[in-house]
Amino acid sequence: MPSPVAHSIIGLSTVLGWLIPAGQTPRSLLAAAWNYRLALLGAVLLANMPDIDYLIGIPLGNLNVGHHLHVHSIGWVFLVAIAAWIILRRRYPGSALGLFVLLILLIGGHLLADVLTADCSYPRGMMLFWPFSDSFFYWPDVTVFPNLSKDSFANLFSLHNFRAVLFEALVTLPLLVLVLLRKCLQCPPNAEVDRENSG
Ligand SMILES: [Zn+2]
Repeated sequence: MPSPVAHSIIGLSTVLGWLIPAGQTPRSLLAAAWNYRLALLGAVLLANMPDIDYLIGIPLGNLNVGHHLHVHSIGWVFLVAIAAWIILRRRYPGSALGLFVLLILLIGGHLLADVLTADCSYPRGMMLFWPFSDSFFYWPDVTVFPNLSKDSFANLFSLHNFRAVLFEALVTLPLLVLVLLRKCLQCPPNAEVDRENSG
């Protein structure tokens, strides 16, 4: 699995792409992002939510213990999305269905990033299809992110992990930049309506 750096950037890209209207200037983009600062903070938390299972391994000094089990599954994604939807639905400005889709994308995006990560610890992969199956799903042919060493606190701060996190940032930051650029290059919603009205 990638580090919180990749998960956070993917989560921020998702929620910025979803919430911020098109037709921004660089300055208005910053103002819009500031207006959505609580949503962005929530997006980072939700995008990292499945890694709550690290709490099992922290006292044991090995973050692999208890990792990639039930909370890295489609069942967990739906449970957290439903709980978050109940809490947020009255504050969300868009449709109830839209909020649910956004939550699924945010939390499910974590599992997708994990699927695309090399896993060198046994059992490889995660219980992706729980509650339908307890089997571990691993797809070694399609890996984007490198493995992180997490079997001791010393390895956690190793040069290998520093390089791996740097690589994650190089892969995911362009995604964030593309999302923001698109917001500046698209027509604002009103302009599209005006064009339709003018024939
Ligand atoms: Zn994970």
